Amino acid sequence: MDKCSPIILVSACLLGQKVRFDGQSRPTDLGCLINKGCLLLPICPECAGGLPIPRSPCEIEFSGNAKGVLDKQSRVLSVNGRDCSDQYRKGALHCLKTAQSVNASFALLKEKSPACGVCFIHSGNFDGQIREGRGVLAELLHQSGIKIFSENQIPQLMLAVEKS
Ligand code: SF4
Repeated sequence: MDKCSPIILVSACLLGQKVRFDGQSRPTDLGCLINKGCLLLPICPECAGGLPIPRSPCEIEFSGNAKGVLDKQSRVLSVNGRDCSDQYRKGALHCLKTAQSVNASFALLKEKSPACGVCFIHSGNFDGQIREGRGVLAELLHQSGIKIFSENQIPQLMLAVEKS
């Protein structure tokens, strides 16, 4: 791939795709990346793992974290108490394989999601509270050497792309 055309994995909901649990999107202006010549590749790990749209909201359980989910030591639970950990692991692996197949070095992921969160996730109690932590895909990409950024870190992503 041309060094001038870095490929960036992007949470599909940030690109306007209606893939969120509530059937909505979170469109974000990514014109600066497109103007830089970046190729944006939409991914939705929750959908890739087989979860439907719409779906019950999920959170990583209060006592757990994303690394634990990948290691099968923690769970991702729906608001109804359903264990969705397998779908989150499957979706994360699918997105990692996609990233590796196109040599993507960067990912721009939706903050606070149990799959995509980069710096923060929900508490695990479905109480609207936020805690520090990564989503399951973000953790897997991080462990695999792919640089992850949230929609709140686009200037930092731009800088990293320029240096690459
Ligand atoms: Fe967006 Fe990621 Fe949630 Fe899919 S899993 S809806 S891409 S935040």
